[in-house]
Amino acid sequence: MAGTKTFTMIKPDATAAGNTGKIIDRIIQAGFSIVEMKWTTLSNDQAKKFYEVHAERPFYGELVEYMTSGPIVAAVLEKDNAVEDYRTLIGATNPKEAAPGTIRAEFAESIAANAVHGSDSDENAKIEGDFFFA
Ligand code: UDP
Ligand code: MG
Repeated sequence: MAGTKTFTMIKPDATAAGNTGKIIDRIIQAGFSIVEMKWTTLSNDQAKKFYEVHAERPFYGELVEYMTSGPIVAAVLEKDNAVEDYRTLIGATNPKEAAPGTIRAEFAESIAANAVHGSDSDENAKIEGDFFFA
């Protein structure tokens, strides 16, 4: 059975552009409740650890630099089928491929600065939520 929780971050491009409130509104309108939420700035070590699975990818260094470039909002969200429904709400990683009406289609600047994070599995939702809120 699909889990009821997922983890998100509103990324530095979106907080800098003043889109935090609009994105939170979209999340709530889509039926998610906020279980935990925190405005914070990632240290270099935190960003490296959070994205460790991508350590071998060519964009890892830039990703860490970008994710530490300004404040983020970290949150645990609750809804039936949370992980899958949230990935649908945010859209594809590359905003050029994100479906119309998705958060990334509306707010992302680029494939790197793509406005939001969303967990990709129940297992990672738990790991990522605990990373900020254990
Ligand atoms: N990313 C990037 N370049 C790429 C692919 C990904 O900068 O070619 C960044 C982007 O910010 C993305 C994050 O790395 O959100 C994690 O990548 P993943 O493939 O897990 O995408 P997501 O799960 O966020 O859609
Ligand atoms: Mg991912």
